[in-house]
Amino acid sequence: MNYQKELEKLLDNIRKEDRVPSLLLHSCCAPCSSYVLEYLSQYFRITVFYYNPNIFPESEYTKRILEQQTLIESMKVKHPISFIAGNYDREKFMEISRGLEQAKEGGERCFRCYELRLRQAGEIAKECGMDYFTTTLSISPMKNAQKLNEIGQKIANELAIAYLPSDFKKKNGYKRSIELSKEYGLYRQDYCGCEFSYRDRMKEIKK
Ligand code: SF4
Repeated sequence: MNYQKELEKLLDNIRKEDRVPSLLLHSCCAPCSSYVLEYLSQYFRITVFYYNPNIFPESEYTKRILEQQTLIESMKVKHPISFIAGNYDREKFMEISRGLEQAKEGGERCFRCYELRLRQAGEIAKECGMDYFTTTLSISPMKNAQKLNEIGQKIANELAIAYLPSDFKKKNGYKRSIELSKEYGLYRQDYCGCEFSYRDRMKEIKK
């Protein structure tokens, strides 16, 4: 399935109907959200939802959330962007990771990590009466877009809310996020986020 094509079809319809729906956008970090915000804010009234209980250590979490807020305040966009901070539910992340501490990045632990964050985004979107929800995560070449979209759609069906399909890395989305990160002077972390990815990164650096 080409999720970028699916998204384009949907955006075409929105343009033709001349409407501006609301979107709850789960964001993993400021650099990944930069391109997504530039792209989708032409079509939607976006609320960025920062929910990343996977991030370790807490000082890194604080750094990333502050960077996210600064970016939203600095970006010049067609429709204003709002912001919601989720809880830093560390114990929830540790619970879904149990038994998968040694799993490689991109495997089962990551799929559970996607689901934890997407489910919370779907629930908040439902509670706030948003038209759609989605996540920035598909912009990363390290993330499995197929899995992300399957999980997003499954949650959407369960909650009876619309999920916005995406593969933001397509059409040079990832490249553009690097350009925007430079333009806005954003902090770009060099590990995915959790303590396991941090541990693996440290091992690589030592090597
Ligand atoms: S490597 Fe990234 S996606 Fe995978 S579990 Fe850790 S934080 Fe989540």
